[in-house]
Amino acid sequence: MKEEGRKNRSTTHDPRSTPFSGKRGKVWLIGAGPGDPELLTLKAARVLGEADVVLVDDLVHRGVLAYARPGARIVEVGKRGGCRSTPQAFIEKLMARFAWRGAVVARLKGGDPFVFGRGGEELVTLREAGIEVEVVSGITAGIAVPAALGIPVTHRGLARGAIFVTGHAAGVDEPDWEQLARCGLTLVIYMGVARLASISTRLQAGGLPGNTPAAVIQNGTLSNERSSITTLAELPVAARDFGSPAIVVVGEVARLAGVAREARRLADAA
Ligand code: SAH
Repeated sequence: MKEEGRKNRSTTHDPRSTPFSGKRGKVWLIGAGPGDPELLTLKAARVLGEADVVLVDDLVHRGVLAYARPGARIVEVGKRGGCRSTPQAFIEKLMARFAWRGAVVARLKGGDPFVFGRGGEELVTLREAGIEVEVVSGITAGIAVPAALGIPVTHRGLARGAIFVTGHAAGVDEPDWEQLARCGLTLVIYMGVARLASISTRLQAGGLPGNTPAAVIQNGTLSNERSSITTLAELPVAARDFGSPAIVVVGEVARLAGVAREARRLADAA
């Protein structure tokens, strides 16, 4: 794996051999949306069409590359590129080098670049290096993936707000699930599917009833989307054979997925 990554770097990743000139370089941090390429913004499509170099993250649907300029250099910086996820510092350096050489760089990230996307870190690092950076917001999975099932993350009478939280962090970085259990808002959990046993137990320990509606959705907005509508107590079992990427929703709004499903069934039967 390591060997492959190194090989990849010295061939396709080497910006020193790239003759960009005559332009001022710039990096665009672009959100590619949650999956379905049609959920890309018009601005993202336009900027992609102007970029000399496109750096693509794992979660980005390859269909969006149809908007890249013919001849643009495409650099895969995720596992699909044949290497383990490229280290963050290396990606930042790579973008800086391309930009210094005058390239317009499009950094394509899944969802929104500033929601669990490390876009903020990249913005700071690149600006500190004197590089112009602009952000193109994308539709984050935490909103669009539940929506694909008919779940609004806020809903009058059911939830006055929603919290986006990572289920991935452990130790001191772990969210205070007992406190979140008492916030009265919809919990939208990213990267949490592998830790649902602990999350469910802690939310219940914090006072959230085990029969609170919950949903888990894998590959949301894509043709291989799958989901389970369940309860907080049943979540670990319901999501047993679900993998990443998945969004978990905990709160009364998850009930509306059932309403949407029933409406679809009635429409299909009519
Ligand atoms: N910046 C992204 C999130 C990156 S973190 C955004 O704004 O959406 C990666 C996590 O996002 C995944 O582990 C998963 O929790 C969620 N995610 C991204 N795409 C998804 C999809 N199509 N279906 C379900 N979850 C998804």
